[in-house]
Amino acid sequence: MSSSDDEGGEEYLFKIVIIGDSAVGKSNLLSRYARNEFNLHSKATIGVEFQTQVMDIDGKEVKAQIWDTAGQERFRAVTSAYYRGAVGALIVYDISRRSTFDSVGRWLDELKTHSETTVARMLVGNKCDLDNIRDVSIEEGTSLAEAEGLFFMETSALDSTNVKRAFEIVIREIYNNVS
Ligand code: GDP
Ligand code: MG
Repeated sequence: MSSSDDEGGEEYLFKIVIIGDSAVGKSNLLSRYARNEFNLHSKATIGVEFQTQVMDIDGKEVKAQIWDTAGQERFRAVTSAYYRGAVGALIVYDISRRSTFDSVGRWLDELKTHSETTVARMLVGNKCDLDNIRDVSIEEGTSLAEAEGLFFMETSALDSTNVKRAFEIVIREIYNNVS
């Protein structure tokens, strides 16, 4: 995270990481937010380390540098470099796969281990379009978030539900934490 002042204008750069089990939709949440794209057959992300989105808050330019894993989470080998300097995190599970919800605690521990400062955290139950094969209730998501002090939102990268909102809540919270 950094902030600089030139000629009265302030600029902010926030690093945000997306974590969670493989195939929960992390890469598609980012591509939906940053490029309004969705890929039904996306395999491991190739090449893209992060995307930068610019937002205006209180007349100030806020840049969010949002990091996506390159599929390392399959091998439980997300490196400390990935987390370094992060001030925001989206912890994602798939509402149609309970095992991904059961992993959230482990991801929170890993995040805690690697973070030096306050991190704005959002629990994200993705694939809410798959309500017909839901495996985790909204109430379970809500109560885990309350217990851990996280924001919570169900999203769909497929039909865009709450994607922009989830990222923007995290970005605003980071801004509130530093300003
Ligand atoms: P990642 O491994 O966490 O980065 O997950 P991906 O973004 O690669 O997505 C894994 C699979 O889930 C892909 O086949 C996506 O098309 C699919 N997917 C991602 N988001 C959604 C969603 O919101 N709804 C549905 N139905 N499928 C999704
Ligand atoms: Mg991915």
